[in-house]
Order: sequence, then C-alpha cells, then structure tokens
Amino acid sequence: AIILGIESSCDETSAAICIDGQIHSNIIANQTIHEKFGGVVPELASRAHQQHIIPTVNEAIREAKIHKNAIDAIAFTRGPGLLGSLLVGTSFAKAFAMARKIPLIEVNHMQAHILAHFIEDPKPAFPFICLTVSGGHTQLVLVNDYFDMELIGQTIDDAAGEAFDKTAKILNLPYPGGPLIDKLAKEGVPRFQFPEPQIKGLDFSFSGLKTAILYFVQQQIAQNPNFLQDNIHDICASVQERIISILLKKLRRAAEHYHINQVAIAGGVSANSGLREGLDKLAKEEHWDAFIPRFEYCTDNAAMIAIAGYYKYLYNDFATQDIAPLARWAINHQK
Ligand code: ATP
Ligand code: MG
Ligand code: FE
Repeated sequence: AIILGIESSCDETSAAICIDGQIHSNIIANQTIHEKFGGVVPELASRAHQQHIIPTVNEAIREAKIHKNAIDAIAFTRGPGLLGSLLVGTSFAKAFAMARKIPLIEVNHMQAHILAHFIEDPKPAFPFICLTVSGGHTQLVLVNDYFDMELIGQTIDDAAGEAFDKTAKILNLPYPGGPLIDKLAKEGVPRFQFPEPQIKGLDFSFSGLKTAILYFVQQQIAQNPNFLQDNIHDICASVQERIISILLKKLRRAAEHYHINQVAIAGGVSANSGLREGLDKLAKEEHWDAFIPRFEYCTDNAAMIAIAGYYKYLYNDFATQDIAPLARWAINHQK
C-alpha cells in the first residue's frame, strides 16, 4: 500500500510517502518567520502551512517517484497541536481523500513520535517504554502495541523542549534554543550546579530549574556584566546535563517499576546529543536495549505520520469526512 502522510501540528509543514512500510520521501518545510518573534506565532504558522502544503506534497510525490493516482490512503495529524495549523493539514487531507476517493486516516501526533521507531530496523519489541520529549510534551509511555499506549508519567509544568527553549531565551540565544544549547554545550564543562526537582513517581517538573537559572544568571551578571559571554559554553553544558539527568532518572525508575528492558526516546529533544549519549551509557549499565531515532525522525516530520497511517491502514482503521482536528488529544484513549 502507498500512504501519503501529512504533518502540520506546529511550525513544520511536512509530507511523506510510505510504500509497504518503507519511507520513500520525507519533505519538511521549516517556517523561519517565527525566529524574529522568539517563538511560534500561531496565526503566522497557519498561513505558512497554507502556502507550503501543496509544494511540499508535490515534492514528496516527486521524490518517491510515484504517481499521485497510485496513493492508496492519506494519513494526517489530527492533534494535538495548534488548531489553526492542524486545520490546514486536516482540510487538505479531507479534500485529497474525497477527490481521489481513497480512505482518510487520522493520526495522533504523540503516538506518531513513538511510532517513528517502526520506520527502520532495529525496532523495539512490545511492550517497551518510550520517553517522549518534545516542544510541548514530556511523557513516559508504556507502549503495549502500535495503538495501545499508556501514559505512565508526564511533566506537571514545562516540557523538556520548553526548558531548553526558555533557558536559551534567558541566555540571550535565538529561538529555537534547544539545538543551539546542544551545540554550545559540546565545548563546555558542566561546572555549574542547578537544582534537581524532587517530584514523586514518574512525573517531571522543569519550571523550578528555569527560575533557578534565571536568578543565577541575574546574580552573576550583577557582579560581572560579561558573565554570559565569558561562560556560555559551561552554562549550556550545565543546563543540558541537568535536564538530561532529570529525564534519565525517571526513565530508569519507569523501567525498574515495569520490569522492562526495551527503552526508547522520541520527539524533538531526542535529537539532543547529550541525551542520546546519556541513554546509550545508561542502557549499557542497565542491560537495556535502547532505541534512538535517526535525527530527521526526532523533530516533527511526516514520515512518522505516514508509518502510523500504514499500520492503521492494515487494521482498516479509517476516519470519516466529518472529522475535525483536536488541539488537545490524549495518547492513551485509542485502541
Ligand atoms: P509536540 O511534539 O509536543 O507537539 P513540537 O512538535 O513543537 O511539540 P518537536 O518538533 O517534536 O516539538 O520538538 C521541538 C523541540 O525540540 C523544541 O523545543 C527544540 O528546542 C527541541 N530540540 C530540537 N533539537 C534539539 C537538540 N538537539 N537539543 C535539545 N532540544 C532540541
Ligand atoms: Mg517545530
Ligand atoms: Fe512534535
């Protein structure tokens, strides 16, 4: 089966072609308009999706070397995400399905981040635990089957990606700060100690860390106006190390509690080199099989939507034309 996947939940417009479970193209149009505002502006994101969606889909079809008429189904991100952004992908998918008389498949964006692990070998075996860390979510998920997922832990305030991005703002770095902190941290030493929150169970918290960093930076600048410039690498290394230690501590706790040794990470923050190295190291100590997506499948992409759509296609799990996008949509409600 040939599945066209569409992703438009935030600020990436993406289209991908999946043929019998293999990804043949994955085109991602990033929106640069948001940089000057220091964050995603929803209204501008919707407009950019509207402009990008047709060329992105055409490019995905062209790169996969297929004909539009050969597409068997179209899968799209129904949510969670920015409603105006989701509407563009949803409307496109509905129109495409109607015009071509092919099935329409709804995909949960957070399930898709996890299902990105089924694009390539090695694939995790069920049940496995996935730490999904992205711009809007930080979740520990017990994955029993492709669409049978249980939320076992989550952030009670900021997401891990938000922690990176908000800290970057405090450090006067441009948006999105996550990738930049990663880069700068490579040349730094984590010699500043930031507090680790004491949160019960498998939940996370990052807002205290953000505040602690803000106060620390303000205090240091009062003594040395060049503090940031002089120490930026070490600050980034320290921030990154603390965010990673918070994440991996709970991941280890979850694996212990559920007696599971198949462990995965997913979402934009799983592109972080420190987290990837940290997980590899921990996996060796704990004798886990660790699964880390390829970089292009960490941040938002349509390949993960297409692969999720492919598995739903196999189950004949189709949506109807009256479907509407959902800004909020739990990961664990589906079959
Ligand atoms: P969600 O998936 O929760 O709806 P989103 O789709 O906006 O949110 P993603 O695209 O999955 O999020 O991830 C984007 C986030 O990943 C941003 O916060 C960004 O800073 C962060 N990120 C990307 N690369 C890195 C990196 N190398 N190190 C740290 N953070 C990173
Ligand atoms: Mg994004
Ligand atoms: Fe995402």
